[in-house]
This record gives sequence, C-alpha cells and structure tokens, in this order.
Amino acid sequence: MTTAAERRSLIVQSIASAARVAKRDPADVTLIAVSKTRSVAEIEALIAAGQCDFGESRVQEAQDKWPALRAAYPGLRLHCIGRLQSNKAVEAVALFDTIHSLDRASLLDALVTAALKVGRTPEVYVQVNIGDEEQKGGVALSDLPAFLEQVRASPLALAGLMAIPPLGPEPGPFFALLAKLARRHGVTGLSMGMSGDYSTAVMLGATAVRVGTALFEN
Ligand SMILES: *Cc1c(COP(=O)(O)O)cnc(C)c1O
Repeated sequence: MTTAAERRSLIVQSIASAARVAKRDPADVTLIAVSKTRSVAEIEALIAAGQCDFGESRVQEAQDKWPALRAAYPGLRLHCIGRLQSNKAVEAVALFDTIHSLDRASLLDALVTAALKVGRTPEVYVQVNIGDEEQKGGVALSDLPAFLEQVRASPLALAGLMAIPPLGPEPGPFFALLAKLARRHGVTGLSMGMSGDYSTAVMLGATAVRVGTALFEN
C-alpha cells in the first residue's frame, strides 16, 4: 500500500528525471492530477501533498465537486480535459482555468461568447486528432493550420496543443509528431502523456502531463 502523497512524490521524481534526460527544466512540466470519478476526500489527500493542478472530464461532475474545494483551497488550477459540448460553454468558462479539448470552430465560438458573458477568459489547448482516428475527438491534421489561425484571432489565449495517442501502438511517435506540429506553428505548450506514458511524453517535450490512475490508485 502506498499513500497518495507517496505516489505523487514518485511521479514528480520520474517527471524530473525524464526532463533531465531530455536536457529540460523539470519546472517546465506541470503535473495535472486527473480527478474524474474521484471523491473530494481523495482529492484533498493530494492537495495536502502539494498538488495544485487538477483535471476533470465532465462539466457536471466538476461543478458538483470543485466550487467548494476552490473556496477552501485558493490557488488551485482546474483543467477541462474531456470532450466539451457547446451548450456547456458558460459553465465551463466559469469553472475552468484551462480547457485542453478545443477541437472545433463551433466550440471556439461558444467559448468566446461565454467568456464575454461570464467575464472570464480561460486559456485553451487545441486538441489534435494525432492518430487520424475516425471516432476520436480533435482537429484533423489537415485542418490544424487554419484552426490555429482562428484561435489566434480570438480573445482566448492559445496555450498549446493537446493529444491522446491511439490505444495500442507505441505513443512515442505520436508525441514526437505533436511536438513537431507545435514547433512548426510556433506554439509552446504540449499537453500529452497519461499514467502509462508520461515519462516518454516528458522526454519528447510535454509541458503538461495528465495523470489519473497512477496518482489515485495503488
Ligand atoms: C482520464 C484521462 C486521463 C488520465 O488517464 P490515466 O490513464 O488514468 O492517467 C488523461 N487525459 C484524458 C483526456 C483523460 O480523459
């Protein structure tokens, strides 16, 4: 049995060693604790261990859990990592600091309208369908240049690119491709890497890793 604090400490160490292998500064990598389906008590154990960044997939679940946690622990940062419906844009803009799943023009429009209405402007990552998968969310590779132009012309701050590689093949080549796209388009942030592959992602340039299982489960 390990505690959440012990698991977090090991993951932070792994991130730091992966960063050093790649001659990167470990401080340039943010560990996002993916707390979807986790209880407030499980989340509080990680906050006590020093965790500041949390990710949720569903707006409704985040609304149930986070307003009270935010009030109790100022300075936390909340990330939306799941597919976002345009009709939830107002709630999302009011709740999240960063949205990692911007993947279409209609959602961009909804977020811009919501930001004006709520008076709060989250930063956004553009999600890329890096494995060109039929059912996967994310902007098609061929549409990425035009979509990035649209985001840059909007009032939302472009934080970077996000991707979830296909299940099965080695993730490394997909992380490398996302990093290459970011360089090509002058984008700095790279949200990539989960419990099974965050070290690889950090070696290939991730600036934010989204880790759930490895933090919350033994
Ligand atoms: C659930 C989820 C994660 C975390 O996955 P783990 O394998 O539990 O670390 C990361 N990113 C996204 C988009 C997710 O939905």
